[in-house]
Amino acid sequence: MTSQEVLERAGFSRQELSGGALPVRSPIDGGEIARVAETPVSDMPAVIARAKSAFSAWREVPAPRRGELVRLLGEELRAAKEALAAVVTLEAGKIVSEGLGEVQEMIDICDFAVGLSRQIYGLTVASERPGHRMMETWHPLGPCAVISAFNFPVAVWAWNAALALVCGDPVIWKPSEKTPLSALAAMKVLDRALARFGAGAPEGLAQIVAGRAALGEALVASKDVPIVSATGSTRMGAIVGPKVAARFGRAILELGGNNAMIVAPSADLDMAVRAILFSAVGTAGQRCTSLRRLIVHRSIRDALTHRLVKAYASLPIGDPREAGTLVGPLIDHAALDRMTAALHRARDEGGRVHGGGAATAGVPGGGAYARPAIVEMPGQSSIVREETFAPILYTLGYDSLEEAITLQNDVPQGLSSCIFTLNLREAETFLSAAGSDCGIANVNIGPSGAEIGGAFGGEKETGGGRESGSDAWKGYMRRQTSTVNFSAELPLAQGVRFEV
Ligand code: NAD
Repeated sequence: MTSQEVLERAGFSRQELSGGALPVRSPIDGGEIARVAETPVSDMPAVIARAKSAFSAWREVPAPRRGELVRLLGEELRAAKEALAAVVTLEAGKIVSEGLGEVQEMIDICDFAVGLSRQIYGLTVASERPGHRMMETWHPLGPCAVISAFNFPVAVWAWNAALALVCGDPVIWKPSEKTPLSALAAMKVLDRALARFGAGAPEGLAQIVAGRAALGEALVASKDVPIVSATGSTRMGAIVGPKVAARFGRAILELGGNNAMIVAPSADLDMAVRAILFSAVGTAGQRCTSLRRLIVHRSIRDALTHRLVKAYASLPIGDPREAGTLVGPLIDHAALDRMTAALHRARDEGGRVHGGGAATAGVPGGGAYARPAIVEMPGQSSIVREETFAPILYTLGYDSLEEAITLQNDVPQGLSSCIFTLNLREAETFLSAAGSDCGIANVNIGPSGAEIGGAFGGEKETGGGRESGSDAWKGYMRRQTSTVNFSAELPLAQGVRFEV
């Protein structure tokens, strides 16, 4: 199927794909596949005003009815799964199975949110005063901005939008300027759900603005956007976070990771190798949860490194649309340059590099295809402590579990982590308060590929936000504590007396 056919199948007209000011390139061959219309920054006040007015209506629609819209979205996503996933593959360069997985994640969060729409409940609290009842109620908070990154061009929006819509909040989506087509295609799916939902969904309930960072800046600056969920680099979060805080808005920050696996002497090495391969080279190392640091017990370090170097040498790198490809392209040539620069620095810092460099055999011309690299490091030097968004796996040795956990935690980021061990004490220590300091800590599972049922996010420079499952929905609502006096007296709390 040609690019044009993929886009037409996802519902784009030829007119939508040409004539705009925002060029879109496919990382598969670097070719331009569309020029989409960019939302002028001057439109942002009107966009925000529409969301604000939609909020007045949507917050009064009962939550289970709001859930019906998300149920329809899930249905439409099921019908559009292949078509939408093909756009993700074309525009973000994910292999077919990962593109499909991304849309499946959208479907999963819709299912979760539909159930949630009948479970938005607060506590009742014992009052110290007779004839009084105390309770907490969760109310909608207001328009929610979703600023998303290129590497999960549709799922991150769905994580936020499915919850926000059920919680009573309109959504304004600013996707990555590198992947506007996937976002526009996802909005077409939502439009079909909205059409089936009919009256009751106000105009401006779900909007998209296509363009560069300036559009995100307008959302970040507006007091009429109480929630800003921003996914991307720590550099971006360091700008967005303080700006939202300065206006007392709520930021949900999902930023960079520097994820590690500890491999203990008792580990099932066959399982560990499979987990390492998926999490270090899957999505060409462009997941926030990609495995970047392997902390291996010295007694097995050489043997494991040898197995990995051998496995890396036969990785199928190439066109992500082709069956059998496991490693597709990096998003662009700038990403490949950053990978090359990181490997230079790693060598300067004493690293021994296996692999790396541009892959040229059997790959489409024009794309930025990298050979995944393994780098044996003498210690956790400065390059190891940075997130390079590319398939580089640094390996470090350790002697005691305490040393391994110290290494694991001694980076600025705190997203995902894991240990491979068959030793119960080691596993539980890793998960304990003195163990991993990350938002995600796994045992005998790699750091990437989270399910939507758990809260997703990380600590330190990863931003502290939580999205997706568990009680992440509370981030999209405001909590109201109410005390009702059904007695004929007016006692004050703490026994205070104030008689007139
Ligand atoms: P990026 O920071 O370059 O861009 C992300 C988004 O932020 C884009 O939509 C961009 O236009 C917008 N943006 C940039 N500057 C802004 C500003 N000043 N104000 C408002 N918006 C602004 O990130 P990227 O290269 O697209 O994505 C890769 C990064 O995202 C990696 O660091 C990765 O770890 C991270 N990421 C994190 C998660 C997570 O859940 N923790 C998930 C996916 C990606």
